[in-house]
Amino acid sequence: MLFHSTRGESPSVPANKALRAGAAPDGGLYLPEGLPQIRSGRAVGSVAEVARELLPSFFTGSALEGQIEQICDDAFNFPVPIVQPGESGPHILELFHGPTGAFKDFGARFLFRSFDRIADASDPITVLAATSGDTGGAVGCAAQGNAHAGAVILFPKGRISPFQEHQLCCWNKPVRALRVDADFDACQALVKRAFLDQDLSRTFGLTSANSISIGRLLPQMSYWAMAARQMLADTGEKPGLVIPTGNLGNAFAAILARALGEPIGPIVLATNANRTLYDWFTDGQYKARASVATLANAMDVGAPSNFERLAAFEPDAPVEVVRVTDNEIEMAIREEHTLHGYVACPHTATALVAHTRISDRVRAERPWLVGATAHPYKFRETVEPLIGQKISPPQTLANVLERPTTVRDIPAELSALQAALAS
Ligand SMILES: *Cc1c(COP(=O)(O)O)cnc(C)c1O
Repeated sequence: MLFHSTRGESPSVPANKALRAGAAPDGGLYLPEGLPQIRSGRAVGSVAEVARELLPSFFTGSALEGQIEQICDDAFNFPVPIVQPGESGPHILELFHGPTGAFKDFGARFLFRSFDRIADASDPITVLAATSGDTGGAVGCAAQGNAHAGAVILFPKGRISPFQEHQLCCWNKPVRALRVDADFDACQALVKRAFLDQDLSRTFGLTSANSISIGRLLPQMSYWAMAARQMLADTGEKPGLVIPTGNLGNAFAAILARALGEPIGPIVLATNANRTLYDWFTDGQYKARASVATLANAMDVGAPSNFERLAAFEPDAPVEVVRVTDNEIEMAIREEHTLHGYVACPHTATALVAHTRISDRVRAERPWLVGATAHPYKFRETVEPLIGQKISPPQTLANVLERPTTVRDIPAELSALQAALAS
């Protein structure tokens, strides 16, 4: 299996090269050349079992061939329950029971286990990431303990919440956190400059782990496929999916799983007030915008990075986009708690609202599965006042909070980043 660039100006490469590169050299995104035939009964099973069926054929002819089954077993070893809080309401697929409490754990754990097998002592990999949100924590946690593939996480001093800072700074070797005396844009600019510096890039094997990585995208098919098979077995119908969407990584994985023949019905993308995808859906024009801040801040994206894949792929079945305001997010969190005693994070709430917007006829045709992307504890500053009670951390996040932290302060200068990388 080879991967080609959406822009068609770079050579096709096997999976290990696509993983290592992140984006293709022509600036496009990698997509598989054709879809493999999945010759299985599509039996109900755990995420790891389903992943073992779906993923290996994408890695044939690559340096990772023969190792994917083991990576799936290691990476997907936590529960992924389907719950139904209200009898007539949608089912909810809880994607937040991994070690850092958000669905980013799936992609990060698969990617870093893959990186550690691709890299070696003479050819190391260092993921350089500027992030404040769920990705940074998942990346740090996933890289911890690796032999050859580490991570360096940059974040802006004084501009992220205490919990966010803790979950970036609490991981052991080969993970390091750098607190930059600058704002978030300056952190990202610094990372970009490091990638452009060929010496630096080569010496440390710099790469990124953002949501365009095919090594995050492919594994995310596994839980949608797992849940869809389970729902089909339980109800006799293919479920529709409602997916909280920002950079379109999670949703594109579901679209890919459906194209592979998994029993998935219509796919609804729930977005917040950032309207780029909604405008594209309603009038066919894609126009990137500056992002606006919302309560569902992991979805505050004005130029969804995986859109180029969606445009190149042309899904074979319906995809719909619903836009949800902060006001509606707040009402949904309150109502879900009052009516069903269920506590949703703001991202999950966008999908709960989107589910109510599906036309009555379409909604009645089949069961629906709403993706719950983060544990509400991670967004408790928003959620607690709405439900009028405290949220206690799940064991996974309590474990994170107990870990000691270390961080190095640097100015926003390339020389300082270089010194930190070398130390
Ligand atoms: C990253 C994230 C999203 C958005 O996922 P995309 O793959 O970027 O569309 C939604 N919810 C949470 C909690 C996230 O961390």
